[in-house]
Amino acid sequence: MKTINDFDFKNKKALVRVDFNVPQNESGEVTDNTRIQAVKPTIEKILNDGGSVILMTHLGRPKGKVSEEFSLKNIIPEIEKVLGKSVKFASDAIGEEAEIMASELQPGEILLLENLRFYNEEEGGDKDFAGKLAKYADAYVNDAFGTAHRAHASTAVIAQNFPSTKFFGLLMSKELEAIDKVLGHGEKPVTAILGGSKVSTKITIIENILPAVNNLIIGGGMAFTFIKALGGNIGKSLLEEEKMQLALEILEKAKAQNVKVYLPVDAVIASDFNNDAERKEVDIYDIPEGWMGMDAGPRTRDLFHDVLLNSKTILWNGPIGVFEMSNFAAGTVALGDSIAEATKLGAFSLVGGGDSVAFVKQFGYDDKVSYVSTGGGAMLESLEGKELPGVKAINN
Ligand code: AMP
Repeated sequence: MKTINDFDFKNKKALVRVDFNVPQNESGEVTDNTRIQAVKPTIEKILNDGGSVILMTHLGRPKGKVSEEFSLKNIIPEIEKVLGKSVKFASDAIGEEAEIMASELQPGEILLLENLRFYNEEEGGDKDFAGKLAKYADAYVNDAFGTAHRAHASTAVIAQNFPSTKFFGLLMSKELEAIDKVLGHGEKPVTAILGGSKVSTKITIIENILPAVNNLIIGGGMAFTFIKALGGNIGKSLLEEEKMQLALEILEKAKAQNVKVYLPVDAVIASDFNNDAERKEVDIYDIPEGWMGMDAGPRTRDLFHDVLLNSKTILWNGPIGVFEMSNFAAGTVALGDSIAEATKLGAFSLVGGGDSVAFVKQFGYDDKVSYVSTGGGAMLESLEGKELPGVKAINN
């Protein structure tokens, strides 16, 4: 993997694709600067070498139209705050202004280009557009893991203009290393926990990770399709009837590959999909008519805990209960505790993809696990075994 650590940026201009697609409030202020924080080490390395940085990113979905709402001008104060440096701004990513500003950029300086998605050519992966951007710099750095699964002009196509000076940024390399630790070279036993609502969205992931894992924990709403397929009564719990056969096939495949599968053994059930609904704890195979499974029960939490504390590598994707409702968050909280404890004892833990990332941030587990991925879709596609266009473009 060719990273920026393999290059001395002294007196060089680096065009750095970042993912500053940050959440904002109504006045345009940034409400979560995680994505800016995440690329700070990359920017600092280039500046410390004596190079200069030209930042490019998209923000929102302006669909090829220039708009105040999606202007990067609005987020400059937050970028400057996080980086602790002033940032120059080209109000159009392409054209004379940007060309002059880029050519006059001095070592140690940062220039930000206006939203790339003001041009349809960005998402269209247009070669000429990429070529115009490429002219600004001596090297190309991709540190936009969150957009690495897109073959856009600035995330993939542009790399061909820099055959020997294209690099992964430090965030990108951390993300790729974390995936590799789990799926490629993880210390055994490797345990994957898959939760969330649907089997259908996780099938490809399950099939792809089976050869790499020793234990597979299946929880959350998707577990009920397995339980029903195994003959259980699941009441009105989430069910994908057409996936029941597939669930059985997965269990067979896991067995054939010596992967131990752990399903919930009990559940906290509710009379309704509502935080204030009546609740009780029952065996997972005996959910009464009219009731639905909402969270992992206490015996399930203990079972998962034992598996996790005996694991050296842990991958977690998807909550194991409806954690958004306070009365049904305890199972996912217990799982977070178990992963935190295993991590403290030396396991490597990666949390990736959508809702589990939201959970660890909301409940303060982000410092208690080894790595929290910054890329939802990109992480999921990696776990599905797909080669990301943004990664391929640098590796080729
Ligand atoms: P996904 O986007 O497929 O990863 O699913 C995440 C969602 O699964 C979260 O919003 C959880 O509330 C939901 N979830 C977890 N367990 C259950 C359950 N037992 N019943 C219904 N939804 C669940």
